[in-house]
Amino acid sequence: MKTVGYAAHSAQDDLAPFHFERRDLRDNDVAIEILYTGICHSDLHQLRNDWDMSEYPMVPGHEIVGKVIDVGKDVKSYKVGDNVAVGCMVDSCQECDQCEHGDEQFCREGMTQTYNSPDRINGNITYGGYSKHIVVREEFVLSVSDQLDMKRAAPILCAGITTFAPLRDFEVEEGSRVGVIGLGGLGHMAVKLAKAMGAKVTVLTHSAGKVDTAREMGADDVVLSTDEDAMENAANSLDLIINTVPVKHDLNPYMPLLDVGGTLVVVGQVGPVNELNTMPMVFGNRGVSGSLIGGIQRTQEVLDFCAEHDIHPKCEMIRMDEINDALKRLEKGEVAHRIVIDMSTLEADQ
Ligand SMILES: [Zn+2]
Ligand SMILES: [Zn+2]
Repeated sequence: MKTVGYAAHSAQDDLAPFHFERRDLRDNDVAIEILYTGICHSDLHQLRNDWDMSEYPMVPGHEIVGKVIDVGKDVKSYKVGDNVAVGCMVDSCQECDQCEHGDEQFCREGMTQTYNSPDRINGNITYGGYSKHIVVREEFVLSVSDQLDMKRAAPILCAGITTFAPLRDFEVEEGSRVGVIGLGGLGHMAVKLAKAMGAKVTVLTHSAGKVDTAREMGADDVVLSTDEDAMENAANSLDLIINTVPVKHDLNPYMPLLDVGGTLVVVGQVGPVNELNTMPMVFGNRGVSGSLIGGIQRTQEVLDFCAEHDIHPKCEMIRMDEINDALKRLEKGEVAHRIVIDMSTLEADQ
């Protein structure tokens, strides 16, 4: 299938229109017309080759919603016209212990990421959601409920699942005390999801300008991390902290905010943190942990949870040809919440 997307040809390049072919449908494949794609901060890292694993040309995008336009002959769960979604992975071995218990992101043979990853069968590098169409095996296609607004659903596929998974893993429920560091794409979803689970949510931010936004999102409390007294008053007040900050920073000021046995989960940053003081860890069984997206079943669960609780990411819609400006704004930290590309603005003849 011929299609069009936007690709970068090197780490220095802007994205530009790129014509390519999607594979012929395998028996278990679903072909999707992409309607909306969210822009994730990791798209920026991948485009700039920050993690030293980028292949070009690169078509980023792993927050995808669209409509089924064709199915292979063995596909059972989807039919033409269904509203569907694709997140950060498109394949895994389906046989190892991790795949068996639903953590395909930790597949022993390595998950196939939605873009910049070799296809398990033909070895071609995968192209993501900054494009008109995508072909994905049935097991990695998610169903989108009619309750969800397709226009605003895309960021659930990465920002949503990334924060939902640790909230579930650490059994957040009515009365849990959850802290959220950062209020961007991931952070604002963490606030909404934790609130819907019945938690008391405290946003930790270094910018006074974010206080009102945090309240609007539903935060019960906001603590300015630059205010030493406020930080001291918040000692031992949280069971779990979801840390969504995407750049190198100091974790030490946050650890004393955890109650005995509490955990700070890093979901926003890949790389070193500043030297970590083990005092609050040893004297109180506090821990630092990490979390990577979530398995397919969990991703379906967060989509259904958002539908049930009427949770939609805060989205700013752009045209496909505005992508380079959008990425520059994201790089400068000028983007509140999530940018979503309206794929109807990408014409086949571009
Ligand atoms: Zn992402
Ligand atoms: Zn596996």
